[in-house]
Amino acid sequence: MKTFDKTVLTKKSENISDWYTDVVLNAELADYGPAKGTMVIRPYGYAIWERVQQVLDGMFKDYGVENAYFPIFIPYSLLEKEKEHVSGFSPELAIVTHGGGEKLVEPLVVRPTSETIMYHMYAKWVKSYRDLPVLINQWNNAVRWEKRTYLFLRTTEFLWQEGHTAHETEEDAVKMQEAALEWYRQVYEDYYAVPVVTGLKSRKETFAGAKSTYTVEALMPDGKALQGGTSHNLGQNFSKAFDIAFQNRDGKLDNVWQTSWGFSTRSIGGLLLTHGDDNGVVLPPKIAPIQIVIVPIFRNGADNEIVKTYSESLYKSLKAKNIRVKLDLREGQSVGRKFSEWELKGVPLRLEIGQNEANDKTVTAVRRDNGEKLSLTLIDFENQSSEILDNIQSSLFAKAQNFLNENTHQVDNYDDFKKIMNTSRGFIKAFWCGDVSCEEKIKEETKATTRAIPFNATKEKGKCIYCSNDSENLWYFAQAY
Ligand SMILES: [Zn+2]
Repeated sequence: MKTFDKTVLTKKSENISDWYTDVVLNAELADYGPAKGTMVIRPYGYAIWERVQQVLDGMFKDYGVENAYFPIFIPYSLLEKEKEHVSGFSPELAIVTHGGGEKLVEPLVVRPTSETIMYHMYAKWVKSYRDLPVLINQWNNAVRWEKRTYLFLRTTEFLWQEGHTAHETEEDAVKMQEAALEWYRQVYEDYYAVPVVTGLKSRKETFAGAKSTYTVEALMPDGKALQGGTSHNLGQNFSKAFDIAFQNRDGKLDNVWQTSWGFSTRSIGGLLLTHGDDNGVVLPPKIAPIQIVIVPIFRNGADNEIVKTYSESLYKSLKAKNIRVKLDLREGQSVGRKFSEWELKGVPLRLEIGQNEANDKTVTAVRRDNGEKLSLTLIDFENQSSEILDNIQSSLFAKAQNFLNENTHQVDNYDDFKKIMNTSRGFIKAFWCGDVSCEEKIKEETKATTRAIPFNATKEKGKCIYCSNDSENLWYFAQAY
């Protein structure tokens, strides 16, 4: 942080992708790794991921999902067992051909996802309905080759969780698929303060080897959509390929019904893009590693000891309320610089404590989201601190929700569709006949892909935006990140 000067930040409105990179690097969230496509997640960025882990892991465990760990190396032959799966992933695989100074007899794939290796093991473990359901998650890394790095959003190696379950019936599997998507929606909306569209993917956008894919889709400030997390109903595709068979309650042999679902560090990119401004990151309190920072203002000739003591007691009382609070007592840094650093890092609330505050037992607080300065008595502040944080959280959500509403357009002709894609972009709701050739043409001509059909959508009568054939489904389209 020593060399940071906020005047070097690109303005978000001028060039959002340069702004994004400037902010991620300067706020010390992440950096480029020496190998192309790789990213180093720095402690402050990792602290956000740890918050995500804490929140999601709690949800998983409440449901009965357990954590485990499976190897990063997968024999190539395992990947080939499910044909759609291997063809979907082969363009982005990293393959190990040598180990210990020798050419390997069988190449090993560095996991792009763990369906194959986990289900190879499930086939060994599941014999009877009594062994079901299997509800396993792993927190790990995965590798999918990328030629260009975009910190958090597109990296060859990323961190995520992947849940993999096996059930007696398809009904149970679908319940699991829905539960996982609901967790992801909650993380986005309730923690990230990022509103999402939830729904079903088109056949073309469905996970390789799955029967159906559910998704959470967020709209970024540049009008592109971010696929925020997905949950797949794998049907019996993998259980047949991997021979995960069990004796059912009628004594007959059956294949299990499966799901898989994942949420990655990519989501942090969406979080940063959504709320950040020209001064840097803006973090919603519920996900912020530091919710409140206290900056004591020491001055020559002032009674600095009383300021320090007062700041320390404030720190203790906030900590006792389970608020994630930091007291910035660093020396050799000007107060002004400290203010801009914490602004850059997006801490939701900054307390400025000088001699006046200490003498009068008051608190001066500055909100990161709107810059509002609050002057409160110590008692009022202590009573209201959680409420202020909640207010910041809901203001951020409301602002993002407004943006989403304003940038969701329903169109009934292809000219309007193209015009929007050429200008502001955003979500476009349009009828689509379901034919993959229309979907491909639209992508070719406008860069927009089908994002989802919302769960709550009712069937309506309309004409496909591309071919004008009868259609009954309104789809969300957008250019994807
Ligand atoms: Zn069509």
